[in-house]
Amino acid sequence: MLKYPISKLLFTIIMVMMLSLDMYGFSFSAYWYALPVILFLSLVAMGSFLIQWKFFIESKNNGVREGNRVSLTFDDGPHEVYTNKVLDILDKYNAKATFFCVGKKLQNQPALANEIVNRGHSIGNHSYTHQYKFPMFTTKRMIDEIEKTNSIIEIILGIKTNLFRPPFGVTNPRIVRAINHIQMEVIGWNVRSYDTVDDNIENVIKRVTKKLMAGGIVLLHDNRENISVILEGILKYMKEQKLKSVCVEDLLKLK
Ligand SMILES: [Zn+2]
Repeated sequence: MLKYPISKLLFTIIMVMMLSLDMYGFSFSAYWYALPVILFLSLVAMGSFLIQWKFFIESKNNGVREGNRVSLTFDDGPHEVYTNKVLDILDKYNAKATFFCVGKKLQNQPALANEIVNRGHSIGNHSYTHQYKFPMFTTKRMIDEIEKTNSIIEIILGIKTNLFRPPFGVTNPRIVRAINHIQMEVIGWNVRSYDTVDDNIENVIKRVTKKLMAGGIVLLHDNRENISVILEGILKYMKEQKLKSVCVEDLLKLK
């Protein structure tokens, strides 16, 4: 897949070539100049939203396709009601998962954070505020958010995490600089449930189970009311298929 630095270089070369040719008498209309600009900007926009492209950063989006291990991951929690339900269902199926928590929510619920870890799951960093403007923050502000959440995890749980999932899965050059500065692993997914936008529980379960295979990393959210039924549906399917959920660092052998 095309990466950002190469795309930027190609775009610059094309523009310089067109301008040079223009100076030697080849006359390009504005449309011809607009074409590479539109293509480049579209590529950047899609690369920002599709973490699996690894356009800006080497994210880890799946494990090896052999065996029977997958990883269920939960973003945007912990939630005072729904996270506990998720924990109970995971216990019922003897499944382990990774929770990408929002620092501010962790800070307010240290007991729940401890409960997650005590039940054998892992916790990753999902920024401090999870503001929709996060991708537009300066590199310094991103570093502050990520480091603040890392310290909260360390203070509350006595553990260090090097797992980071960008809010909304959006990546860009600033996030790359922030992550390179802090030295964390960017964890994406290869199975997206769309549980935050689709209210049809059956559709969400089907969307996940259709794509789920060994090595899969599933994106779910534990701050939604529907999550209990969705999770139960996915785990039932996994039991039939003999698929086992483990913490993402175990799936990716990051420990
Ligand atoms: Zn999120």
